[in-house]
Amino acid sequence: MGLVKSEGIVLKAGRLRETSKIVNLYTDRFGKLTVVAKGALKPGSRFGADLEVCNHILAVIYRREGKEIDYLSSTDILNDFPKTKAELPKWTAACGACELVDKATSGEEAQAQLFASLLGTLKGIEYSTSGRVAVHFWHFVLRLLEILGYRPDFSSCVKCRKRAEEDEVLFSAADGGLVCRNCSIEAEFYHKLSRSTAGKVSLLQKRRSENLFRINLTRSEKEEIRRVLPAFWKYHLGDKLDLKSFEFMEKMAGDRVR
Ligand SMILES: [Zn+2]
Repeated sequence: MGLVKSEGIVLKAGRLRETSKIVNLYTDRFGKLTVVAKGALKPGSRFGADLEVCNHILAVIYRREGKEIDYLSSTDILNDFPKTKAELPKWTAACGACELVDKATSGEEAQAQLFASLLGTLKGIEYSTSGRVAVHFWHFVLRLLEILGYRPDFSSCVKCRKRAEEDEVLFSAADGGLVCRNCSIEAEFYHKLSRSTAGKVSLLQKRRSENLFRINLTRSEKEEIRRVLPAFWKYHLGDKLDLKSFEFMEKMAGDRVR
C-alpha cells in the first residue's frame, strides 16, 4: 500500500462535491479501482483533461489499506483517442466497451488480459473507419465473455458436436451455442441466425484485436449479432448488464459497411 504506479483506463468519471472527481479506473496491475482526484474540477488542476472516459493514463495512486476508495496523486496521458472523440459511432462504441467492463467487473481481480484487451479495442476503434467499429465492439464483447468464463459455440451443435451446415442455424442462449435441427426441442426458444453470421462470430472469437482488418460485417449480420450476443449476455450475467449499453448498435447496424 502507499504510492503505486499503474497504467489505467478511465471507465467512468463523475463529480464529487464541488471540485473533485470520482473515477473508476481499470488498471493493469490492480484491476478496477475507484479513485478520488481531489481538486480535479478546479481551473488549472494538475489532472487537466486526463480523467475523461476512455482515456489511457499512467496513474500514481495512493492506496489505502482496507479502504474502498483510493486517492489519485498524479496522472500522465498515454492515449486520449482524439479520432474516437471526434466521431459519434466510435465514441459510443468506445464508451460502450468501457461501460461493459465497469459493469461486469467488481473490485480487484487483476486481469492484465482484460486490460490489454480493452486497450487493444480502444486503439482498434481509434484507427478504424466508423463503419467498422461494430467489428471491434463485438470482438471485445466476445473477449470479455471469454475472460469471464463464457465462450458460446458458434461453429457446431453444442449437443452432438455436428458442424453447422444449414443456411439458417439455431442459437440457444441457455445451452451456450448452436443447436442443430435434430437436437432442437420444440418447446425451447432459439434465435435464428444465418450461418454466415455464426461463421463471422466464430471467426471474431479466434482473432486478436489487432488482426480484425479483413473481417467485415454486413448490415444483416450486425442485426443478428445485436440480437444474439446481448441475449446470451443477459441470460448468463443477468442484472450485471443493462441492455441500454447495446442500444447504440441499433443505429450502427444501419451504417454503411466500408
Ligand atoms: Zn445436434
